[in-house]
Amino acid sequence: MKEQEKVMLTGVRPSGNITLGNYLGAIKNFVVRQSLYKSYIFVADLHAITSPRNPEELRNAVNDCMAMYLACGVDPNQTIIFRQSDVLEHGVLGFIMTFQTHMGELSRMTQFKLKSQTCGKHGIDTGLFVYPPLMSADILLYNTSIVPVGLDQQQHVELTRDLAQRFNRRYGDTFKEPDVYIAPVGNKILNLQNPTEKMNKSDGQNMGTIFLMDDLKLVRKKIMAAVTDSETVIHFDEEQKPGISNLISILSAITGEDIPSIEKRFEGRGYGDFKREVADVVCHLLEKIQANYQKFKNPEILDDILNDGAKKARIVASETLERAKLALGLK
Ligand code: ATP
Ligand code: MG
Repeated sequence: MKEQEKVMLTGVRPSGNITLGNYLGAIKNFVVRQSLYKSYIFVADLHAITSPRNPEELRNAVNDCMAMYLACGVDPNQTIIFRQSDVLEHGVLGFIMTFQTHMGELSRMTQFKLKSQTCGKHGIDTGLFVYPPLMSADILLYNTSIVPVGLDQQQHVELTRDLAQRFNRRYGDTFKEPDVYIAPVGNKILNLQNPTEKMNKSDGQNMGTIFLMDDLKLVRKKIMAAVTDSETVIHFDEEQKPGISNLISILSAITGEDIPSIEKRFEGRGYGDFKREVADVVCHLLEKIQANYQKFKNPEILDDILNDGAKKARIVASETLERAKLALGLK
């Protein structure tokens, strides 16, 4: 039964090519549930300018991200697909939500702490600090019930709940408090070369990151070269065996086979055998996605979908913003 009135929403930053981590942590979990909810997915282009970007690259990345959503199975007949910057309400409510947020809360965000370490000589961009309240606005504008994201974004969805509660307490019942959905497996895919760090799309081309559009030979090479450990046992232990555990998670998240069953099947077999199976499964998945991608990489189709999506998104977003403005005394 479709929980018609319940809303699901997620988004990805067009900050590079989409990775296997983005797919397993967020997009796949959205796709398998899109028929159960009133569903929205957006290209988070305002979040992509939290640090300086080349405009032409950003424009292309938005189209690539859209085509990738469709290639991964997002269905425009079931889901409203839009570009964040097409719906101006995101910016306005983001501004309002920033004012509900304490400096301490933002300083405690793990993503801020991690990403601010990599800022160059010019110092830390404010965007990196204040993007979580914008993310809250993204979620709250659509009366969202469920937000499928990877583990790295859990804290931001929890902040959104806190901000919604705070606003409702101060100004009267205005926002719905969302729940986060974190997949039990595949919620934090690690870099294959450095399996203590998350796989990030903005890290650029490297042997540790699998991009959905990677050449399949290269994908195989990346998996076969993945850093593991000096044992030969295929056993899930994130502390002691992060590399092998990461590959087990990838296999399990794609095939649905549970972890104990994978461990059992590979008893007495070596890492080479295991990695070959992981590579087969990943390549099979990417082959299908890449074939679909070519069909959808058509600017006309994409423009139509985005225009239609923005129109529908604006209706709900403007109602919520009006409610918030009324509550604040801005009307
Ligand atoms: P960036 O480096 O630009 O932050 P990213 O790979 O972290 O790129 P985002 O656009 O920030 O991607 O996140 C999109 C979605 O993908 C979010 O829901 C996020 O939690 C999820 N996600 C990102 N990386 C991973 C990962 N390695 N494993 C599982 N989920 C992930
Ligand atoms: Mg990220």
